[in-house]
Amino acid sequence: MTGLPIAVVGASAAGLAAAEALRRFGWRGPLTLIGDEPHLPYDRPPLSKQLLQGAWAPEKLLLRTADQLAPLDLDLRLGTRATGLDVAGRTLTLDGDVGVSPLAQGRERGTLRCAGVIIATGVAARTLPGADRIAGVHTLRTLDDALALRGRLANGGTPGSEGVAAGGGGRRLVIVGNGVLGCEAAAVARELGHEVTLVGIEATPMAAAVGTEVGELLAEEHRARGVRLLTGAVDGFETAPADPAGGGDRRVTAVRLAHGGTPAGEGRASGGVAAGGGGAEGRLLPADLVLLAIGSRPGVDWLDDPALDTGDGLRCDAYCAAAPGVYAAGDVARWDHPVHGRPLRFEHRMNATEQGMAAARNLLAELAAEASGPAGATAAAGAEAAAPAPERRPFAPVPYFWSDQYAVKLQAYGLTAGADRVETTVLDRAARRALALYGRDRSAVGVLAAGLPPRQVRALRAVVAAPLPWEEARERIAAALAAG
Ligand SMILES: Cc1cc2nc3c(=O)[nH]c(=O)nc-3n(C[C@H](O)[C@H](O)[C@H](O)COP(=O)(O)OP(=O)(O)OC[C@H]3O[C@@H](n4cnc5c(N)ncnc54)[C@H](O)[C@@H]3O)c2cc1C
Repeated sequence: MTGLPIAVVGASAAGLAAAEALRRFGWRGPLTLIGDEPHLPYDRPPLSKQLLQGAWAPEKLLLRTADQLAPLDLDLRLGTRATGLDVAGRTLTLDGDVGVSPLAQGRERGTLRCAGVIIATGVAARTLPGADRIAGVHTLRTLDDALALRGRLANGGTPGSEGVAAGGGGRRLVIVGNGVLGCEAAAVARELGHEVTLVGIEATPMAAAVGTEVGELLAEEHRARGVRLLTGAVDGFETAPADPAGGGDRRVTAVRLAHGGTPAGEGRASGGVAAGGGGAEGRLLPADLVLLAIGSRPGVDWLDDPALDTGDGLRCDAYCAAAPGVYAAGDVARWDHPVHGRPLRFEHRMNATEQGMAAARNLLAELAAEASGPAGATAAAGAEAAAPAPERRPFAPVPYFWSDQYAVKLQAYGLTAGADRVETTVLDRAARRALALYGRDRSAVGVLAAGLPPRQVRALRAVVAAPLPWEEARERIAAALAAG
């Protein structure tokens, strides 16, 4: 055995699941987990929900404590960024200067030759040019992002608060981007008492993810709770000096809309008014705080080996392999879904865990095959320490995601984005209970439930586990609903 490690890059949901699965499936060689954040792996969905609300402390988000990680015998390198990968040599370049590492061991810099690599670098929040230099403009992807925003929401919009104080709301928050993240943050900020404007280029919130009818149901809930919904593109910010002496970063005072902006759901042709009342000033949305929730960029900028396709995430085959000995999992991976027959990439929490496990399993199977093959012994010699290899298996999950906004829980199986047909049944408008079926090429491929009990929702999963003829799926959905 050469003692080469398997390296997992990205110490979050997918990376942790991969590391744990490698051990569970029998890898007893060295195992390196590399993450550029200084924190132990933590869970992201609560960032825009319980953490932002102030209901949960940051420690509650940890996926594992240091004690729980100990049995994995990890070479854990936090605060360390992977800056390059030589695919043919399976060699990573690492840079330890990206943050404060509580586990710094003075060996983060340099190169790391590996038996295999799993890439789980997720996505990063998209932002607007210059926004990072304006006080009061935030993104929401990391724990540090969420704590910074929560501090501002807790303290009526001014910096310096540590926790969420009851009744500390009341400032003007403009959320740019009316997708899932923007909607979740709007709900929390409204519940904390802030004045919230949600502006996006889609006329209906979350329409790209769930279609216009479900989106409109959510829009009704946001309006009923006092959120102002606008349609428009943002082209910049108005700022003022942070303090009268002009020191420090400038602070945001307003968001500038490119074309005025109309109340969501009203096209300009139907007489929608410009935000704030029209005219030059009408293009400004006054703001003490801004959240940019305008999507994400897959974490592939460090992968410059031409052997890899990094067009929209890291392109993988059906086994989650991007190249021999190199696998990917989670938000960063775009792989050939064997059931849906096309490359897909999901930013869903459950997919991160499931794909991390699948990538680990398939990498071990490949390494074991390499070790037993004619050219085996060098690159993959660590695989002899793994359990007898199973065959590699295509990764074929039934996608699942959820979102919580106020008391409304959305749960979806299959594919809801990119549908060419959506049929929505509103079961109770006031309670925002609904069921939607999503189709593509005459088959049903996704289903979404709003406000339905978990037992009923689980029964829907089987309907869209694989594309099903539309009519048959409708009948099965109706039967599942009737069964209560
Ligand atoms: C605020 C928020 C709310 C969400 N809510 C939901 C929800 O309700 N339901 C749902 O299904 N999903 C939700 N998601 C999505 C879900 O959290 C993600 O799908 C999941 O976290 C993806 O896990 P991952 O491990 O693939 O990537 P990530 O969690 O993005 O982790 C990737 C890690 O790799 C690190 N990294 C990146 N580049 C490098 C590098 N070069 N070297 C070293 N480390 C690197 C990153 O810093 C990061 O720590 C939410 C996401 C966010 C941000």
